[in-house]
Amino acid sequence: MSTNTIILITLLVFISGNIVAFLYSWLVLYTDTFKNLRIQKAKYKPGIFFKRLPLILLNITLILTVTAVSLYFFSDIFETDFPQQWWLIPAQILIIAFVDDIWFYTAHWLLHANKFLLRHIHSVHHRAVHPHPLEYMYEHPLEWMAGSLGVALGLVVISLIMPLSIYAFWIYGALRNLHEMNLHSGIKSVINPYIPFLKNAEDHDLHHSRSKGNYASMFNIWDRVFGTVIKH
Ligand SMILES: [Zn+2]
Ligand SMILES: [Zn+2]
Repeated sequence: MSTNTIILITLLVFISGNIVAFLYSWLVLYTDTFKNLRIQKAKYKPGIFFKRLPLILLNITLILTVTAVSLYFFSDIFETDFPQQWWLIPAQILIIAFVDDIWFYTAHWLLHANKFLLRHIHSVHHRAVHPHPLEYMYEHPLEWMAGSLGVALGLVVISLIMPLSIYAFWIYGALRNLHEMNLHSGIKSVINPYIPFLKNAEDHDLHHSRSKGNYASMFNIWDRVFGTVIKH
């Protein structure tokens, strides 16, 4: 598979996820489709969708550009043949998720513990007190790029111990996008409670309404280990 094909498919995976997020936000904000499933009943500010757009579009542009440039130089890191043992793909997805979530927990905890970082960087994301799906991309560009480093770290860890499958990267990229928009949807979780150790929208929604605790994104392990769980 050529480098250009890898870049093109990766960008398509990311862009499709963003389109889903736009549609989901539109349904949440402008229709009654999910009205009865909302976690917080507070009304959204008028025009919030368009108010959030400039920074969200900047962050989308940033991530697409950095991803394309990184793949141009480092696409050799990936094995593009489908692995003979299919289970290597879910195993690698789990490893990336694990590393990504340790990174996210640490960075997110630090963004709250350090008052300078909280005031000048993370406060942007916390303008969303009752978030809607698109707001997982509404954050300071520095925080947005730092958050993406967790995925890169997961890829590097795997490539050091075994051939890294491009399919694991693509599937994780799509799942991470869906998970993040679900966490910020403000809509009660339907599937998440049935998946062991997985964080749900209620956990992260509470983080936004109280601006503390529940720092992990993917798994509920780290908040339990470090005593940062908050509940209703
Ligand atoms: Zn958030
Ligand atoms: Zn936070």
